[in-house]
Amino acid sequence: MTHEFTEPITGVDRYAVIGNPIAHSKSPLIHEAFAKQTGQSISYERILAPLDGFKATVIDLIAQGFKGANVTVPFKFEAYKICDSLSARAKSSGSGAVNTLINVNGKIHGDNTDGAGLRRDIEQNLGIAVVNKNILILGAGGAAHGVLNSLVGAKSITIANRSLDRALELVMSISDCKASASSFESLDQPYDLIINATSAGLTNSELPIPDGIFGKNCLAYDMMYGRETPFMVQARRNGARVADGLGMLVEQAAEAFYLWRGVRPETQPVIDMIRAL
Ligand code: NDP
Repeated sequence: MTHEFTEPITGVDRYAVIGNPIAHSKSPLIHEAFAKQTGQSISYERILAPLDGFKATVIDLIAQGFKGANVTVPFKFEAYKICDSLSARAKSSGSGAVNTLINVNGKIHGDNTDGAGLRRDIEQNLGIAVVNKNILILGAGGAAHGVLNSLVGAKSITIANRSLDRALELVMSISDCKASASSFESLDQPYDLIINATSAGLTNSELPIPDGIFGKNCLAYDMMYGRETPFMVQARRNGARVADGLGMLVEQAAEAFYLWRGVRPETQPVIDMIRAL
């Protein structure tokens, strides 16, 4: 572990985000803002775990008395495996991924708050109901797996991915018979809600998706944040309402904060604060 532990701060509960890389993580800013807003006395640190040293890092944090941690790329799947117990939603997501750890008397309890964060952002912040919507998810990686079970109540869910096999695998992993798999190229109908859960935006790559998928009053949601992706440009050009994943980032953090502290922070001021940076 490359993080050097500071002296334990007495009277303050310690939390962290673990990843590799980790320097870019906005989680400390978000949790510090939540703590200030709710009057909670916590500290929150970035921990860079070696790629082959995630489990050892977590054990070390538990020994140091850390109360909980968030887990980010590339450790979410490993986190799932090392937990002593899992929440129902972490178990049922089919994702095998955990993004929140809770220290329960030295045992590790795992949860996944990504799906709840996405749904809360779409419904409460953006004001779009998921129920009865025809939804298209682009991508079949960890993020797509993690949010699928939060879209319960949708009229239909289509999962399209560059590698069709992975989209099929994802459809098979859930019991919802309303889900189907597709390649990008064979998409041929309009959707009410399109969620881009690919990492194509990281390399500024365009997705080979037809313009006709952006239905009337469509919300095009890109899980990426911090830049306008080619997906967002295409969606705007086709008249869709566009949102990025910053709200989801803050909402999944709020859900973790609630699990740790039993207090639900207000998210909109924190979304505004991070966006202004
Ligand atoms: P993974 O590496 O697990 O999956 C990547 C996915 O993107 C795969 O489906 C892959 O397809 C697809 N993909 C990658 N490059 C391209 C491309 N050039 N063209 C088409 N498809 C492509 O990543 P994650 O699922 O963990 O993350 C996906 C995105 O979601 C990231 O941008 C991440 O930052 C974001 N995210 C945001 C969160 C938030 O809170 N806002 C939370 C979690 C993730 P294939 O299977 O064919 O390789």
